[in-house]
Amino acid sequence: MKKAVLILFTAVSIFMSCSENESRVKTTDNKTQGKRDQIFVVSTITIINDIVKNIGREKVKTHSICGVGIDPHTYHATPVDPKLVSKSDIIFINGLNLEHWMEEMIKFAGGAKRVETVTTGITPLTDDKGFGDPDPHAWFDARNIKVYADNIAKGLISIDPENEAYYKSNLEQYILAIDSLHEWILREINSIPEDHRVLITSHDAFRYFGKAYGMDVKGLQGISTEAKVQTEDVKNLIDFIKSKNLKSVFIETSVNPKLLEQISSETNANIGGTLFSDSIGNEDSPEGTYIGAVRHNVNTIVNALK
Ligand SMILES: [Zn+2]
Repeated sequence: MKKAVLILFTAVSIFMSCSENESRVKTTDNKTQGKRDQIFVVSTITIINDIVKNIGREKVKTHSICGVGIDPHTYHATPVDPKLVSKSDIIFINGLNLEHWMEEMIKFAGGAKRVETVTTGITPLTDDKGFGDPDPHAWFDARNIKVYADNIAKGLISIDPENEAYYKSNLEQYILAIDSLHEWILREINSIPEDHRVLITSHDAFRYFGKAYGMDVKGLQGISTEAKVQTEDVKNLIDFIKSKNLKSVFIETSVNPKLLEQISSETNANIGGTLFSDSIGNEDSPEGTYIGAVRHNVNTIVNALK
């Protein structure tokens, strides 16, 4: 079923590429007035939206469909979403089955739209709970963000080729920042004693992070918060925490913390802090960028487990 949706969505994306010339004509018209209007870019999640801002800077006006703290797995469209989608020059989605609601939204938006999948080129991890679904949380391996940024730059250049050098220069700078973030995460996680490097969270959003930076990760829910938590899942996680004598578990800004708080109360593990998983922080806070949110996560994890 999910595969069918994915195939359909790819078909929609290909069809929508045909609107490219339309966008180009519009931006060229604006230039005749002496000042080019910004491109309007819609992203599905705040993480992608932040990367768009870094690559597009003052050439783009941006909007994230899922706002700060919103869970993209269970998102329900608001009446304003299709309107913004229909006004957009280009839409960036994560893909890997994260935004299964997007196809419907584009249908409601009524117009052919340019849709780019920012994970194109990334080999996804799959769900280890036996469903074989791709794990959408590729953004937590910082090296994957370079692929996201590259795809975003290509998308922006395709609708605004006159500013190619500008986008490419911003991309280069952003990639340098991401490279140093990646090195910093490695050093920080390495400072945690090896047997404490276990990350327990509400849902399986950190498997790419664990693989890239050497942590065991375990989520109460699977890779989607749509999965129902069984009593057995709770019991297994409690047993696991007790057997490893883990001292902290972590809640997430976009997921209800209730069950994890219950697990914490039934074990010796405290709540080590709140992590950003499927959303970054408020725009005017230090965690309001991908880099800031990841730095917050790593500092929180290190402080709790060291
Ligand atoms: Zn998630």
